[in-house]
Amino acid sequence: MNTSTARKEQRVPANICDEAFRLANIHQVSPTPKAYETWYTYVAGKNVELNDFLNPIVNSGEVISDYDLKNIHDKYVSPSNPDSIHQGAANYNFSREMDDILNVIQTYLTSSEYFSGTLDKNFDALSDDPSPKQVLQTIKNLIVENSVMRDNSANLMKNLNTSKRQLLEMQSSLKKSKQNEMKDALTNMYNRRYFDMLLADSISDAAESDTPMCLVMVDIDNFKKLNDRYGHLIGDEVLKFVATLLMKNVKGQDIPVRYGGEEFAIILPDTKIANAMTLMERIRILLESAKLVLTKRQQSIGKVTASFGIAQIHSSEEPDELIQRADAKLYQAKDAGRNCIAC
Ligand code: GH3
Ligand code: MG
Ligand code: MG
Repeated sequence: MNTSTARKEQRVPANICDEAFRLANIHQVSPTPKAYETWYTYVAGKNVELNDFLNPIVNSGEVISDYDLKNIHDKYVSPSNPDSIHQGAANYNFSREMDDILNVIQTYLTSSEYFSGTLDKNFDALSDDPSPKQVLQTIKNLIVENSVMRDNSANLMKNLNTSKRQLLEMQSSLKKSKQNEMKDALTNMYNRRYFDMLLADSISDAAESDTPMCLVMVDIDNFKKLNDRYGHLIGDEVLKFVATLLMKNVKGQDIPVRYGGEEFAIILPDTKIANAMTLMERIRILLESAKLVLTKRQQSIGKVTASFGIAQIHSSEEPDELIQRADAKLYQAKDAGRNCIAC
């Protein structure tokens, strides 16, 4: 078997992977195996029904939601077994790529065995007392075989390098998708998914190192009114402003996240409640003193404030219990008239 022919049959074209990742990014769907498999199948163009369905949507520039894409996957890509837990498309491509590499190596080994056989044959063909003509012929044979073998080695290296490059590209695309999965698109803050992981880790770290740890819940005051008055787009800008203010004003290991809507959470490792209170008071004052102006109209949008609820971890407390206590404090701050901290 010729190595390059084998490769032609096996190779997953890099541009299909790239295009599938590009579409997944445009549509900002979560980078699940199903989503990737759907885009991959679409770009590969072999599933006519899927392409007939998706073409008008993709061409119209309409954005497809996670929910729709999952349904499309279950209907067109994997209709027989929609809920099965299957290897994701990205994994599938990794395993295709690994198969591909093994095939190249196998081909090389086969040709290497063939080469050894040829050497033996040529050696056996030489009689005990070979004539110069016989020796010359054997040398010629060996030169030809050696050149075939050299070509095979060169092919092997070339194909392995291509595979390596493809695997690295896939790996970095997956890494990027994974990072995006943890970030909130509007504020570029970490999101709730990341928060859940981080909180569980921070609680165990605090227990192991026997250090205090605080959780702060922050909620913008009367945000609905602000949206109603200035519109959602201005509301979004205010959200971004508050997010940036939080990110800029906490130190290295303190991580603020967008918990949802106009609510943020901040985990403060190795921090006692009194220090958490001081830090949040500084942030509260910074926010209420910020002068937010609509650039186009040069109109002030007035004071934006937030309320804060802080709870310090108790020993052997579960993440949900800590969140509930911090939340309860936040409600207390709202009840107390907003723009204040309860702890
Ligand atoms: P409170 O002081 O009691 O927290 O009042 P509130 O108006 O801030 O709270 P409420 O829960 O009544 O309203 C929250 C509003 O936040 C409603 C929702 O439309 C808005 N909101 C949530 N997420 C976003 C977003 O991403 N962008 C914009 N512009 N608004 C959002
Ligand atoms: Mg609010
Ligand atoms: Mg709220």
